Amino acid sequence: MSTTEQRVAVVTGAARGIGAATAVRLAAEGRAVAVIDLDEAACADTVARIAAAGGTALAVGCDVSDEAAVEAAVARIAGELGPPVVLVNNAGVLRDNLLFRMSAADWDTVMNVHLRGAFLMTRACQEHMVDAGFGRIVNLSSSSALGNRGQANYAAAKAGLQGLTKTLAKELGKFGVTANAVAPGFIATDMTAATAERVGMGFEEFKAAAATRIPVQRVGEPEDIANAIAFFTGDAAGFVSGQVLYVAGGPLD
Ligand code: NAP
Repeated sequence: MSTTEQRVAVVTGAARGIGAATAVRLAAEGRAVAVIDLDEAACADTVARIAAAGGTALAVGCDVSDEAAVEAAVARIAGELGPPVVLVNNAGVLRDNLLFRMSAADWDTVMNVHLRGAFLMTRACQEHMVDAGFGRIVNLSSSSALGNRGQANYAAAKAGLQGLTKTLAKELGKFGVTANAVAPGFIATDMTAATAERVGMGFEEFKAAAATRIPVQRVGEPEDIANAIAFFTGDAAGFVSGQVLYVAGGPLD
């Protein structure tokens, strides 16, 4: 297979946070990167960072839970950048609440973005991977997959992504496609800043409190997760598939 066929990566939810850091990192690895987020204009910053470093990136507005939008986005990426053979399903939302207060709408939103989104994106990209005889899929799970108070919807979705990952590994392995999950612990992003706000704490205070519970005594940065994703998506990781890597500054209970 030519290098060209291995070049194109897609990162969802890449306007900011972990997705943006991952897009920048994969571009530095030589990938042309499709930067997907809900709002195409919001991807401009990530695309500019990649371009400034001499890389290639395309901003794509797409709601990953919308089947038609996903099909159109992947067709556009294949046409403008080339066949997408690396996929990072990173787009995510929180709708935290204790179970007795959780609305069905908040349950559905979280399932739709994380699980349906990863399913739709993977289904749309896999034909390009199978045609190329090469593919790398990384799904963003979470330490919350092990259970977390106030996150019945999110924990279920993130555990579900681990099942999806292992199934993709089994179905697609014979086509040269690997699938793995990265499960972050506490990473400093807008998502955790919003959680701090929800519980009435300043973000710095919230991070400092979290750091005391983490063996390496600091919270994670988006680049910590991008580094793990870069490993799983690399050419050298072809024998690593169906794994879940917790990247949390220590083991989890
Ligand atoms: P973030 O800063 O909130 O960024 C998430 C991005 O996803 C946002 O740009 C958001 O767009 C986008 N997005 C939301 N719904 C979407 C949809 N339907 N279609 C396309 N894009 C959508 O989150 P993050 O902290 O970087 O987290 C990234 C991933 O890591 C998520 O899957 C999250 O669950 C997981 N994770 C994070 C942590 C952590 O501590 N931060 C820990 C474990 C796992 P808008 O801005 O327009 O909403």
